Amino acid sequence: MIIDIHRHLWSLFERFPRVADIAARAGNPMAKSERLPLVPDWEETGEKLIAEMDDSGVDISVIFMADYALRLGDGIFSAEGENRIHVELMRRYPDRLIAYFGIDPRRPGAADSLQRAVDEGGVRGLKMHPTVGYFPHDRVAYPLYEICQARGLPVTFHSGPMPSPLYSRFTEPFQFDDVAADFPDMNIVLAHSGQDHWPEALSVARSKPNVYLELSMWQPKWQYPDEFLFAIDRMRNTIGIERILWGSDFPGLRPYMSLKEWTDLFRRLPSLGEEYGYRFDDGDVDALLGGNSARLLDLT
Ligand SMILES: [Zn+2]
Repeated sequence: MIIDIHRHLWSLFERFPRVADIAARAGNPMAKSERLPLVPDWEETGEKLIAEMDDSGVDISVIFMADYALRLGDGIFSAEGENRIHVELMRRYPDRLIAYFGIDPRRPGAADSLQRAVDEGGVRGLKMHPTVGYFPHDRVAYPLYEICQARGLPVTFHSGPMPSPLYSRFTEPFQFDDVAADFPDMNIVLAHSGQDHWPEALSVARSKPNVYLELSMWQPKWQYPDEFLFAIDRMRNTIGIERILWGSDFPGLRPYMSLKEWTDLFRRLPSLGEEYGYRFDDGDVDALLGGNSARLLDLT
């Protein structure tokens, strides 16, 4: 089974074009993503998403939105409305899509909103994007973690830098260490494994058994296959294959490669590894592409 543990309906750059302009000036190829129509057709987006999964052999996608509004201004949909779209798509495709809830913990009533989304919407996890201006260990977020820990829901955090006007220091991998220590029974997924700061993310995961490293947004790293394979090999040898997760962070990463190419790259890990002197077997592939996420999501 192949599970994409990190997927969006629309990318940051689609939702907030002015951030795309800034990222383009920094030379980020992802900033070339398509612009959304004034009112995107979320039902059509859902249909296309399922078709793309079918084409790539992805069985299940975990979908969520990041709540950027307190830093970037209102998006096309309200945070409440956009979260509701995710829940509605999960209802429409119950065997294919799993929705998390995305919220800025500084919003008034954030914990109540999460509780409602879990009880009434059936969301299966929480997504947070601290680059909007809070530390993950800020006590304002703790009531949300209490809920996740009590309900056995994983929390996915963005980790690593982001374009202006977002702030990167809030998501340095070490900023998640306190949260992992204070909520030892809550599973924490460091999305993107800190990007270029992956050794720091790995050292956090090595000390905290409830921290998972996730490989979405690693498509650009394939420009340097040796480093890419070295990093995954080092992660596996340090914390075990069980805590490494595969994801796409699509659609934002599409300018680098298709979802099918990204999936195939991991399917071919044993032969690619051999080419560069790293040993991966089919068990590693199965664990990375879905087995580990199935366990995290309690699907087994
Ligand atoms: Zn993402």
